[in-house]
Amino acid sequence: MDARIRETLAGLDIRAEIERLRKERNAVILAHYYQTPELQDLADFVGDSLELSRKAAETDADVIAFCGVRFMAEVAKILSPQKTVILPDMDAGCSLEDSCPPDEFGAFRAAHPDHISLTYINCSAAVKAHSDIIVTSSSAEKIINALPKDQKILFAPDKHLGAWLNKKTGRDMLLWDGTCIVHEAFSETELLKLKALHPDAPVAAHPECPAYILDHAHMIGSTSAILKFALESPASTIIVATEPHIIHQMEKAAPNKIFIGAPGADGNCSCNMCPYMALNTLEKLYLSLRDLQPRIEVPEPLRLRALLPLNRMLAIASGAATDLTPAQTFPAVTGD
Ligand code: SF4
Repeated sequence: MDARIRETLAGLDIRAEIERLRKERNAVILAHYYQTPELQDLADFVGDSLELSRKAAETDADVIAFCGVRFMAEVAKILSPQKTVILPDMDAGCSLEDSCPPDEFGAFRAAHPDHISLTYINCSAAVKAHSDIIVTSSSAEKIINALPKDQKILFAPDKHLGAWLNKKTGRDMLLWDGTCIVHEAFSETELLKLKALHPDAPVAAHPECPAYILDHAHMIGSTSAILKFALESPASTIIVATEPHIIHQMEKAAPNKIFIGAPGADGNCSCNMCPYMALNTLEKLYLSLRDLQPRIEVPEPLRLRALLPLNRMLAIASGAATDLTPAQTFPAVTGD
């Protein structure tokens, strides 16, 4: 933090100030599972990105303070356009979002007009606007299985999640070449050493991990599914192959169990922690609530185009849309 901000904050009780502003602003504070424990503990809701945005849309708050990364705050804004959405640090991006520039993705789509586009929620609003259906790691399999077997599909931006879904569903989706730098950092060698030390500990892994990590997992699923598995498993020790800040919720809910984060390359690095999520701090949350900045803005035409594939996901995932005939249901979405 720069010296000027430190000086501004000197002597302030930051937590008390956040409490005051939360009431004054009629704000709801959301924290993703990958945020630091101090942010998770003062949030109104902790969860995965879609869960949080849905919660935010349901509240009567005027302001959503999203402790997560930019694409998550954008989804909150797309679902709740009338609310002010702030992100403590606007540089909190995502390597998956960065790997998929909208213009390149648009060209990729245009080059495959007979494919429909299933796009992981970890992407920009502009890429969402180019997509037919948005998916999350928890909804993707159900949505793929709801599509006709002969329907050609593009999947972006995470190639590891796409490869895992191809394996699970027997599809041959065309995959965009993007990765999450955090889930790619896990080391197979170090994981095997850890498994040797804890032979009875099951491994729960996120499907953003490469196949050489997933091959050693007993359970593969979204952050919420990993959390559920960790709490319900009869095992007393569990190895967790996703961003390790989620372990905070596990330890709170099951203090008698041991949760071990899967290691990165040298077994002791912090490369398995998300550097983008780490940009959000208590101090920046305070400043963003005080100034209502940095603020997420999504131009209305773009918001409406991005909302369409998000709504399709919500409809299919909830069972409201079942008979999918893509030629009629998914006209090409063109965007700027
Ligand atoms: S953990 Fe990976 S996918 Fe999640 S925000 Fe960080 S870089 Fe993006």
